Amino acid sequence: MNGKKILLVEDEVKLARFIELELQYEGYEVTVCHNGREGMEKAQENTYDMILLDLMLPGLNGIEICRRIRKISDVPIIMLTAKDEVMDKVAGLDSGADDYMTKPFAIEELLARMRAAFRHHGAPNAKKPILSVQDLTIDVEKRQVKVGEDVIELTKKEYELLLFLVQNKDIVLSREQILNQVWGYSYIGETNVVDVYIRYLRTKIDEVYGKKYIHTIRGVGYYVKDEA
Ligand code: CA
Repeated sequence: MNGKKILLVEDEVKLARFIELELQYEGYEVTVCHNGREGMEKAQENTYDMILLDLMLPGLNGIEICRRIRKISDVPIIMLTAKDEVMDKVAGLDSGADDYMTKPFAIEELLARMRAAFRHHGAPNAKKPILSVQDLTIDVEKRQVKVGEDVIELTKKEYELLLFLVQNKDIVLSREQILNQVWGYSYIGETNVVDVYIRYLRTKIDEVYGKKYIHTIRGVGYYVKDEA
């Protein structure tokens, strides 16, 4: 057992199963997702030693997942691309992937590239960073939010909304971007759900500490920044 944890995001079920079995045989611990959004959630909620990421995925494509993961982690990522996606390979590497494999590939080659990426990367099990805005910190590993030394209790959606804002510090996010990220593209319902949750966060954080963490740009969206 090498015990390394691998997240495999691949919607071709047979291929995913084949890679999973081969990796398990090599002693890796494998988590498989067949959907991009689910893969993204797994990557946010857990620590992996490597992520194998298909490019074309339902829910959320591999490039977008890679970009988002890179904001919170430097985990090695190998993209799995189909033959006719040459331009996408470039985009994949631009988005922060360490390497890519063109399907179909020999499993031995994937295993060799994985070992190379581990060597190149050095420290396995790299900790997720602690993000901050002013004196508010988010420990992504523990999913814990603090203002100074106070732990702030948030619901799942409140946490996800705050995390998305802090990951994109100084960038104004539209309601649509927030809805897509936090509630998912398939969300159907009141679009003012974002405003409602922003209000919840302000009640729990801004108002309690008498500071302005979350800023509004009327008609555009929301952002957080370091200066109050
Ligand atoms: Ca695919």
